[in-house]
Amino acid sequence: MNNYGIDIWGDDNFIIEDALVKVNSGSKPALLSIVKEIRTQGKRGPLLLRFPHLIKKQIESIFQNFQRAKEELEYQGNFQAVFPLKVNQFPNFVKALTEAGSNYNYGLEAGSKAELLIAMSHNKNNAPITVNGFKDKEMVELGFISALMGEDITLTIEGINELETIIEVANEKPSPTPYIGLRIKLHSLGVGVWAKSGGINSKFGLTSTELIKAIALLKESNLLDKFTMIHFHIGSQITDIGYLKKAIREAGNIYTDLVKLGAHNLNTINLGGGLAVEYAQNSDNRKVKYSLSEYANDIIFMLDTIAKSKKVKAPDILIESGRYVAASHAVLIAPVFELVSEGYLESDLSLKACNPPLIEELNDLYKNINARNALEYLHDALDHLNSLLTLFDLGYVDLLDRSNSEVLGHLIIKKSITLLQDQNYKELLHIQNMIQEKYLINFSMFQSMPDFWGLNQNFPIMPLSKLDIKPSRSATLWDVTCDSDGEIAFDPKNPLFLHSIDLKNEEYFLGFFLVGAYQEVLGMDHNLFAHPTEATVKINDEGYLIENVIESASILDILDNLNYDTLQIQKILKDKITSSPLIPDYLKVKTINSLEIFLGENGYLKTVK
Ligand SMILES: *Cc1c(COP(=O)(O)O)cnc(C)c1O
Repeated sequence: MNNYGIDIWGDDNFIIEDALVKVNSGSKPALLSIVKEIRTQGKRGPLLLRFPHLIKKQIESIFQNFQRAKEELEYQGNFQAVFPLKVNQFPNFVKALTEAGSNYNYGLEAGSKAELLIAMSHNKNNAPITVNGFKDKEMVELGFISALMGEDITLTIEGINELETIIEVANEKPSPTPYIGLRIKLHSLGVGVWAKSGGINSKFGLTSTELIKAIALLKESNLLDKFTMIHFHIGSQITDIGYLKKAIREAGNIYTDLVKLGAHNLNTINLGGGLAVEYAQNSDNRKVKYSLSEYANDIIFMLDTIAKSKKVKAPDILIESGRYVAASHAVLIAPVFELVSEGYLESDLSLKACNPPLIEELNDLYKNINARNALEYLHDALDHLNSLLTLFDLGYVDLLDRSNSEVLGHLIIKKSITLLQDQNYKELLHIQNMIQEKYLINFSMFQSMPDFWGLNQNFPIMPLSKLDIKPSRSATLWDVTCDSDGEIAFDPKNPLFLHSIDLKNEEYFLGFFLVGAYQEVLGMDHNLFAHPTEATVKINDEGYLIENVIESASILDILDNLNYDTLQIQKILKDKITSSPLIPDYLKVKTINSLEIFLGENGYLKTVK
């Protein structure tokens, strides 16, 4: 039975039971039950479910692994972590995150003014705040305000000019001054599609020469006391820990040398993010080659070794992992709206009294196909289909013949896939690749999985039900945008099989997992499909609570966001209806009312049920 690789990417967060995907926590509710409950409240279209317990789980596993590694190696430095807000700034996520992290003094990282304001207002119990990214004077001033509010805030300098701005502001403002971090440029290269974060040519950080200059500047302006941290970030989704080890070796030596150069309050190495998430659905595609425990051990061991050999106090460690913390907490669930070729039924055939010989043969193949001859008959059928198309181009068969061959072709393929299911997998895969079923899904890929579109990042996909039935249709997914890029094509290297379904009589939902990191805020309103309806689901031993339901933006709100004058739009539409001679008077008010209801709803498709 196909388990959709839940044992590879699922991390025990979800289980398959009673043919359903269930949340593996407390009362173990089925995702389908949660979705149905929200849909009974009239919510339609795709749904984004947030599970705060999964945020908590990730934060706890990070702190517990570092605590264990520290104890095992008797490491003298402290461990701290912050969440980089760029990974997910949505309020219901951030609130759940700061709540879950409060026992660990888990802080926030900001990379822009808006993110800094979120950090300043949502940070709990004086947990650390780090500020990266390019800063103008105003942003530096915000940092100072935060320090004056008593926050434990570190401004990380990306270049010498930012340090000059800090010095300027420090001369204008009363103390305290925020702590100062220096981002270092490593010669170790970053990895993967996000590689630009590391290396000598990276966008951020100071070279050795600039570091020495920075120390001199800090000394000169009496700010050396405030210099406490060095920082690097070699890239996101580091699947091979070797790259990180190289970077740590380099950064560790920079750290000890800066201490020796007189940076007497330097006490922290901030290793940025990069902890990877396994998105693979089959073991051949596994990418992540290390565990969190190995990651913690390696970092602690290497920094301990370097500090000891250079006779410097072991640094405090700070990490800024985002993807690892946020990815698993969100699941996007979207209904299948239509099956594009499932529509071919025997009743669609309209055979003539006298058909072209190839059609007769196709019909024979269809009637006589069985488990033993299925592969041979299937090959013959595919052959005939090709010939029939050529005959059509040459004018020897007509449109009705062509339609009959299409219908027969699909019927034969469907039947043979069912017959061949348990044998000859390779050949079947080849055929399934040729004849995929297109599932039209009520979601926007540009909005909900932009990294699939932009970076070919796969996300685990599986149906929420029917998991006791072997899925036999090779599936290509189409989203509801008008963009042909809005497609997840069947990929024989990473095949997705779904069930044959009868949408007239049943609903079928797909879950897209691990979409909690980066996808939401990178998502774009292509075709004006907005962020999906979201809900927070808190699970306990008795059941679950659905909270913070935020419906996807209404059509009017979407237009308003684009700065359309929506009052004027409503007025124009109303006037057009009122003055149209084509609408009888008694229907005018009714038409206006239904248009108003429609404008107040979200723009996703409405399935009948
Ligand atoms: C993006 C970013 C992170 C987070 O990286 P993840 O791969 O999500 O862990 C951390 N620090 C900095 C400076 C970043 O730019």
